[in-house]
Amino acid sequence: MSAGDTDSTGGGASDPTGGLPAVTSADREAAAALILKLRRQGIGDQRVLSALERVPRALFLSAPLQRHAAEDTALPIECGQTISQPSLVAMITAALDLRDTHRVLEIGTGSGYQAAILGLLAGEVHTIERYRTLADLARTRLRTLKITTVEVHHGDGMEGLPDQAPFDRIVVTAAAPEIPPALLAQLADGGRLIMPRGPKGSVQDLVVVEKTGGVLQERVLTPVRFVPLVEGVADRL
Ligand code: SAH
Repeated sequence: MSAGDTDSTGGGASDPTGGLPAVTSADREAAAALILKLRRQGIGDQRVLSALERVPRALFLSAPLQRHAAEDTALPIECGQTISQPSLVAMITAALDLRDTHRVLEIGTGSGYQAAILGLLAGEVHTIERYRTLADLARTRLRTLKITTVEVHHGDGMEGLPDQAPFDRIVVTAAAPEIPPALLAQLADGGRLIMPRGPKGSVQDLVVVEKTGGVLQERVLTPVRFVPLVEGVADRL
């Protein structure tokens, strides 16, 4: 496993992309092309697009994969997991309709990329990861980006974070056949939860659940393929 991607060269206090491994002009062009592609795909939310623009995806990848950072594909990360496809991150973030007053819970920190974007748009983000290695890497990357609104927790996201509940927004970035009841219980009234629901290793439905006056209402956004939500913390890594 490579930890070279947590490299920080320091500097750039006001620029959130300061202190990162070298970014070439070709990298910047590829990143700009990706944003353009997302805009053409119908992601019109400018706040979401600028958050994606501000978070260098390469930082969340191991060194050999960094040159693929601007490709609109999921890519492997440490611990046999994946970083989501940018267009999906954009779609999920737009569907969350975040405000800077929102308290957000993310299950499945993975690389920390989605958490970084949430952290730029929400007031407070808690993200839970079952692999300690991933939680530690994500924490370092968020620190490099000087994103202070995100707290990374190592634990079982299926239990949520009862001490910090309720949350205005909950996003689960791993799939399960059912939405964990603890998460629905920790959703604030007027809140919104997004999760890929469906069988392991197959196509799932990305569902949006809204809680109004204690009543849950759901709709399906799109078919997706996410890694599975697994109960408990990882016993290794
Ligand atoms: N949001 C991530 C991608 C998520 S991949 C990113 O932006 O990179 C899904 C992640 O969910 C994996 O890292 C996996 O380890 C984690 N996961 C699966 N089950 C979990 C659980 N019960 N609690 C916390 N994390 C879990």
